[in-house]
Amino acid sequence: EPLLKLTGITKHFKNLTAVNGINLEVQPGEKLVIIGPSGSGKSTLLRSINLLEEIDDGTITFEGHQVGYVTRLGKRHLDKPHQICALRAEIGMVFQHFHLFPHMTVLGNVMEGPLTVQKKTREEARQTAVDMLAKVGLSDKRDVFPATLSGGQKQRVAIARALAMRPKLMLFDEPTSALDPELVGEVFDTIHSLADEGMTMLIVTHHMGFARELADRVIFMESGRFLAEGTPQEFFCKS
Ligand code: ADP
Ligand code: ADP
Repeated sequence: EPLLKLTGITKHFKNLTAVNGINLEVQPGEKLVIIGPSGSGKSTLLRSINLLEEIDDGTITFEGHQVGYVTRLGKRHLDKPHQICALRAEIGMVFQHFHLFPHMTVLGNVMEGPLTVQKKTREEARQTAVDMLAKVGLSDKRDVFPATLSGGQKQRVAIARALAMRPKLMLFDEPTSALDPELVGEVFDTIHSLADEGMTMLIVTHHMGFARELADRVIFMESGRFLAEGTPQEFFCKS
């Protein structure tokens, strides 16, 4: 059974169709990289999966449960409102621009999800945050504020924060696009080691290293549709 199944996902912004009837199945452990020109709907598709966007048509099924769907009246509904929170806990998302809380320490940022969403105790949340910061190699930055970090370090904190929720799927939306070139490598390596551990992931990126070195499948998106799909070998003619 696929971890995630999308059928006919469609999203309009006024008279613009940003995502146009996307079908996709993601198997557990699979690493998918979506590439394509700016404005082709990649980010909107990721945001739809995480229910950050209300889709206009289609269904989203996660672990066999339908979490988003459209009625004949054309409006997306959820079976139960708490499904949104449940789903967001299972799907971690990392954005281009980090979105860390500036008034909280690094540790506080990573503890926030377990504390407020998962209602863990302070001690449990702290232990999870400590473990996740170790995983991204930032144990020594626990007590500093995000403003003192490099872009690469901020993004690794954002990854640790998403991982603290113990997600089954990670969505990365241009995780390295806001970084100075010399900082791309450390974030790439962090995501690569997560991939090696078996995390299921969907990565939208302009950095072809992800498609070449990490993907099981590469999808080329343009004008809201998937135009081509294949292995990295097929895309890059690797011998
Ligand atoms: P990509 O991630 O491939 O660059 P996006 O999903 O960000 O593409 O955008 C797809 C299209 O939808 C673009 O034309 C973009 O301008 C438009 N779009 C995205 N978000 C909104 C929004 N909130 N309101 C109106 N148009 C939007
Ligand atoms: P991030 O990089 O953190 O994903 P962005 O800087 O790409 O965030 O901004 C994305 C936000 O801007 C989203 O809320 C998206 O819906 C909105 N957006 C993107 N394109 C447009 C557009 N053409 N008109 C209005 N809002 C847009």
